[in-house]
Amino acid sequence: MHYPEVRLAPGRETRLAAGHPWIYRTEVAKGEAAPGDVVRVLTSRGRFLALGLYNPHSQLTVRLLTRREDAAIDRDFWRQRLSHALEWRRRLLPGVEAYRAVFAEADGFPGLIVDDFAGVLVVQFLSLGLDARKLELAGLLAESLSPECIYERSDAPVRRLEGLAEAAGPLLGECPERVSINEHGLRFDVDVQRGQKTGFYLDQRENRAAIAPYCPGARVLDCFAHTGGFALHAALYGAREVTAVEASAEACALGREHAAANGLDGSVTFVTANAFDELRRLVAAKEQYDLVILDPPAFAHRREAVPGALRGYKEINLRGLRLVRGGGFLVTCSCSGHVTADLFHDMLRSALADSGRRARVAEIRSQAVDHPVLLGVGEARYLKFFAIQVTE
Ligand code: SAH
Repeated sequence: MHYPEVRLAPGRETRLAAGHPWIYRTEVAKGEAAPGDVVRVLTSRGRFLALGLYNPHSQLTVRLLTRREDAAIDRDFWRQRLSHALEWRRRLLPGVEAYRAVFAEADGFPGLIVDDFAGVLVVQFLSLGLDARKLELAGLLAESLSPECIYERSDAPVRRLEGLAEAAGPLLGECPERVSINEHGLRFDVDVQRGQKTGFYLDQRENRAAIAPYCPGARVLDCFAHTGGFALHAALYGAREVTAVEASAEACALGREHAAANGLDGSVTFVTANAFDELRRLVAAKEQYDLVILDPPAFAHRREAVPGALRGYKEINLRGLRLVRGGGFLVTCSCSGHVTADLFHDMLRSALADSGRRARVAEIRSQAVDHPVLLGVGEARYLKFFAIQVTE
């Protein structure tokens, strides 16, 4: 294959050797290609490193595809990648009907997300290279998964960094507005067209089940509840009373439908409120819970935002700790990739010191297995989940 060549500045191959999948603009010494082209990446001395997808508009100028010099980036190449991605899910999540089928770089598809909600595929094309191959990839998804429909939700602001406008709409077939999925025996309706991101937070699937030991007979507060993922699981696992706090009125409305559809509306109540304000109010009112869950959105999307994010995490965790009855539990999460597990741990220690409480860690978890982590990329292990017992 005669792909155009891109040559790196001296010494830039080290990070790539460790498996990192991106080349930044400042690391490219020379080379020209059209946006979306496959390029051959060479070291400064001209040694072949990898094939990648080129986007001169993006800081991530090359997204690497393969270290095989003789690979042809054609339909068969993508078909094989997709079959590996699906094989992983079938092996690790047999019988699960709502799962992330493709998790971007970790599955060898730079910037492509595919969620399968019981046969309704929701896709996001977040790189120019794969956006340019949208129809080919949609065709392969149709061939491998025989979905009822494919709906595009590329209405994500990060597309602008690639020089792409936001886009949403059906790619294949007639898409329902909502699709019903089963998770651990609970029914959830996913709003594929208007819900947040792709409609449902699949990365917390196993973590939602992991709260079971803390729930029997418990009074529970679930903050940043979305459509009730954790709240409904808490009720399913025996909580006597669950309050779900969520800022989005649409998410609360769907959450109330979920509670009713699962016969749990007797114990789960949704409150449309800012969780920061609600936590402050509940502390002032001296409320106490057996389990407090904190699952906020990402507070840091960029490295520079980490200090501010840590202040936000500390505020909610300090209040969360104060709301837990002695012997009760705090389940606290962060999905900011730049806030590492160590930074999150330090923040928790500092919140604990300020709270005057004592606590011990029951369990530390990360993201679901259908969100695999590339070994060469620190921030790829983005989800932190700590279950803590507040002892006094
Ligand atoms: N735990 C959920 C996912 C939470 S995602 C699940 O398992 O499905 C984070 C949620 O926080 C989103 O639904 C978002 O609307 C909500 N949110 C963002 N800022 C908020 C705030 N200040 N107060 C309350 N909710 C907020």
